[in-house]
Amino acid sequence: MILNIRRPDDFHVHLRDGEMLRKVVNHTSKHFERALVMPNVPPIDTGPQASDLRNRISKCSEFEFQPLMTIRLTERTTPATIHEAKEHGVVAAKVYPQGVTTGSHGGVTVEQLRGLGDTFAAMEQSGMVLCWHGELPGPGWLTAEQRMLPEMHRVVDGFPKLRQVMEHISTREGVEWVRSCPDTVAGTITVHHLYLTLDDLGGRGRWGGGGQLHPHYFYSPIAKFDEDREILLRAALEPTGKFFLGTDSAPHPTAAKFNVDAGCCAAGVFSSPVAMAALASRFDAEEALDRLEDFTSVNGAKFYGLPLNEGRMELAREPWVVPRMIEGMTPFLAGEELPWRVL
Ligand SMILES: [Zn+2]
Repeated sequence: MILNIRRPDDFHVHLRDGEMLRKVVNHTSKHFERALVMPNVPPIDTGPQASDLRNRISKCSEFEFQPLMTIRLTERTTPATIHEAKEHGVVAAKVYPQGVTTGSHGGVTVEQLRGLGDTFAAMEQSGMVLCWHGELPGPGWLTAEQRMLPEMHRVVDGFPKLRQVMEHISTREGVEWVRSCPDTVAGTITVHHLYLTLDDLGGRGRWGGGGQLHPHYFYSPIAKFDEDREILLRAALEPTGKFFLGTDSAPHPTAAKFNVDAGCCAAGVFSSPVAMAALASRFDAEEALDRLEDFTSVNGAKFYGLPLNEGRMELAREPWVVPRMIEGMTPFLAGEELPWRVL
């Protein structure tokens, strides 16, 4: 069986810079027509920085590809920063609460966030989208997402025309919050949150057995429980247009993901090369292949006010074993056989 869909967009990806950028960009541009490039590594805080990175990305891409650029919101982001970024074609600004993920040490505290009213007003006025890493810093890892919702809701109430995206939703509460908000609020869902739970990370699940920790399933926000994964899947399939794909593919060289001396492991999953095959496999298992195109190629473009892609992508129901290693990086579901592949 062959599935022919509109070429997809990835509304949340980490492309890095330098040598890593050169290695990873084509794994995104081969499958995705556009991708929203996250501004944390390297830190991108202004329009000129975003333009420079866009040029470096375009030079490295071997395929037709449009990087959609973002900046970080920091305590130094002013309305003038927003207007300048808009002139440089930046489409979104991202909130990283301090200390919740890779590269977020330069992020904002809750107090700083509450002082950004003029900046949010400038974004609302200029049509720039606000993207949230929706986790509140502080104690309580598994409840960080729920605890962030009131902070986000203050901005929804205060800036009713500002379009906002809750990125990489990982909980029932996150999905229900997005559903309860007006149409100015949408959410992205990753591939890995549709596959994994904490059990898989801890070696007790379908995808990571053997009772051993599976560090390649360590990412932020962390996988939650079965019922969260199930409600995320329902959200991905629903026809409201409020949910769309953002892979949050965040590659690390396998050798650098683990700092053996320090006993640490960096967060992030390299899912770009696997995302579309894994999604087709997951949707097919739910007998919902007809919902795939809206999730990957329609809902996000409409929310961002972008034209739908003209290009097409073909996927086939043919077994495909995900490579164990791609240029020194371990991809998501490495070594697993998927029932679908991208042609
Ligand atoms: Zn991310």
